[in-house]
Amino acid sequence: MNQPYIVHVISLGCAKNLVDTEVICGGLATHGILLSAERDDADMILVNTCGFIEDARLEADREIRSALRWKKKGHGRAVAVAGCLPRRLREKAEELYPDVDVFLGLDDVGQAADVIRAFRDRSLAGRNLPPASMPTYLYDHTAPRLALTPVSYGYVKIAEGCDHRCTYCIIPDIRGRQRSRSIDSVVEECRQLLDQGRLELDLIAQDTTRYGLDRADGANLARLIEAVDQLPGDFLVRILYTHPLYLTDEILTAAAQAEHLAPYLDIPLQHISTPVLKAMRRGMDGPATRERMARLRELWPGVAVRTTFLFGFPGETAEQAEEVMAYCREYQFERLGAFAFSPEEGTPAATMEDQVPRAVAEARRDALLAQQQQLSLARNQALVGQRLQVLVDAAESRRDFLGRTLWDAPETDNLVHLRGPRDCLERGFVEVLVEKAEAYDLHGKVLE
Ligand code: SF4
Repeated sequence: MNQPYIVHVISLGCAKNLVDTEVICGGLATHGILLSAERDDADMILVNTCGFIEDARLEADREIRSALRWKKKGHGRAVAVAGCLPRRLREKAEELYPDVDVFLGLDDVGQAADVIRAFRDRSLAGRNLPPASMPTYLYDHTAPRLALTPVSYGYVKIAEGCDHRCTYCIIPDIRGRQRSRSIDSVVEECRQLLDQGRLELDLIAQDTTRYGLDRADGANLARLIEAVDQLPGDFLVRILYTHPLYLTDEILTAAAQAEHLAPYLDIPLQHISTPVLKAMRRGMDGPATRERMARLRELWPGVAVRTTFLFGFPGETAEQAEEVMAYCREYQFERLGAFAFSPEEGTPAATMEDQVPRAVAEARRDALLAQQQQLSLARNQALVGQRLQVLVDAAESRRDFLGRTLWDAPETDNLVHLRGPRDCLERGFVEVLVEKAEAYDLHGKVLE
């Protein structure tokens, strides 16, 4: 009898890539391939990469080279590379990594087990480099999936690909055109995750607000919110990765009225100055963006808004960067991230004139983060002495736990460090008395 084939999987990048990793792992596990948390027990290391920006590519390169060193140390060991990086590099991937045994394209996510079994059985032709054509794969609720997140939450990818053409972004070339799942499929997957005991469902896509618009059955995000909200039980739904251009009143009203929606919206704005937004091709100018954002506060009172800004886009002036700073003081975003522009090969922005020196972009980014830190500290200090509902994600010791308020998304936002009874993790939602505030994190004790 054949020895079982054992794979150690490393997942890099964002939550969208993590869902792909979960589907890859589900497929392997249901097709007789064993998964190991220890790489030295494995026959193969599979690195599911992100190739979005330079930092992500460097991280992927480090992991691949470390896996290749591991391969050299043991007879019969193999390395597979999946995800955005081989799709982005294409032929260059073979040259750069001649010792990688197998590549898995984005269309191979649902059939990773077949590819790996073919490799094991020596029937795979070549190294399975991803084709030049755009990927079209989209998983659904029938795809086996092995959860890799803590049990408190799970990601639900409602669409794949992107139809925007932001001039700094390579994602549409990597992930292909937008394709949305049916409402029924998403609701069924949500039901499965709730049956597993998950308490928070995080809806994700490249642009969740555009969900359904590529379908002919009338699906859209508002209808999806209403459908998921019908599911029974005590759980939260959180919407990540929205775009102001498609944030309609219909979506905002559905979100504000839904019983299970976390009072939270992730809406990356990238900039607020009209010339920069135009050069970024974000589809909206500054006044229209401000109007949408004001409408968001109006139609959904109490919502915590998370955004990100990108500094140092080609041609950005000091005054335009200051416009972002002033807008943030005015809007008082509850959660905020900032990045320095990195010119991505193959995007229009990479070859635009008036590139801003990296150091200038980073200084502008750091200035906004410093401003936000002060705002965040003041907001957190006002919470000391209050009772908050917290979702517990992890145990640090028998009495110490990590959780999040309803205003915080997993892996991105602030944490609550809490002391409480041993069964906090099993309880999931707990009530916490806030005792201490830092700029981002809170500390408190569970009220029993
Ligand atoms: S909306 Fe723009 S930034 Fe976001 S994935 Fe699409 S092209 Fe990239």
